[in-house]
Amino acid sequence: MNFKNLKEATKYFSDEKVCRDYLILQRWNGNPECPYCGHTKVYNIEDGKRFKCANKECYKKFSVTVGTIYENSNLPLSTWFIAVWLITAHKKGISSIQLGKDLGITQKAAWFVLHRVREMLTDKAPELLNNMVEVDETFVGGKMKNKHKSVRAKAHRENTSHTGNKTMVVGLLERGKQVKTTIYKSEEKSLKNMVVDHVNTNAVIVTDSLNAYTGLNKLFAGHEVVNHNQDEYVRGIWHTNSIEGFFSQLKRSIYGIYHQVSPKHLHRYCTETAYRYNFRKISDKERFELTISNSEGRLKYADLIKKN
Ligand SMILES: [Zn+2]
Repeated sequence: MNFKNLKEATKYFSDEKVCRDYLILQRWNGNPECPYCGHTKVYNIEDGKRFKCANKECYKKFSVTVGTIYENSNLPLSTWFIAVWLITAHKKGISSIQLGKDLGITQKAAWFVLHRVREMLTDKAPELLNNMVEVDETFVGGKMKNKHKSVRAKAHRENTSHTGNKTMVVGLLERGKQVKTTIYKSEEKSLKNMVVDHVNTNAVIVTDSLNAYTGLNKLFAGHEVVNHNQDEYVRGIWHTNSIEGFFSQLKRSIYGIYHQVSPKHLHRYCTETAYRYNFRKISDKERFELTISNSEGRLKYADLIKKN
């Protein structure tokens, strides 16, 4: 597959047959499988545009887009693929307004494309974090860009995830490896239990001195606390600078590119920024291929716009 930048990708994917063949390769390793019953023997029909399942009980017809985020879309695959390239290659993300202009589609269509592509960026086989894991939290949304630590502490005391219209995002980062984000909902889970969900018990956790983290040392191999209240930010290898750096990136995207994000969709923006962070060291082409191979699973428009 001879493309390594946007210009070459646009040229390569200008033909729908090439796009379909590429998706067959990425999705099924080149061997189509029935998306309805999982049967691996299928017939080519309609000049190879579609397939028919060879299982007598099934016999269903399907195209390569059935069961993917591109299903039931009026947009050609060529447009989808360039959208995936743009979304995953831009360091800070791309707004639906900009994406619409770049692709020659409406902003509404671009908004939907963005959300569907974000579905592809979720980690389908999450692994627990190991070794040294920095855990921190931040508030996103509303007008002010950052809340003072006293406000964060107050939110903890009052056990609430929202201060006004802000939502708390918890970030967990295994140094040198990957970051995970999760939206804090106090009514569902304590901060400590959220850490337990994502981190291996042999790990050492580094946090600031918020009370909500007290007792992590009993659940993990270690718990190192950096006391920000006493102006301590780094103690040897113990600091939370990496996760704080990730949060700055998240906020630059949200406030700089997307301007504002509703709490309902916040987790998708967090996932997108985490994906970009976790795969920042591979090439744009590798990131594109990885993303396309994750095309299954779709998000319906009705689900996206329905109220909480
Ligand atoms: Zn079948």
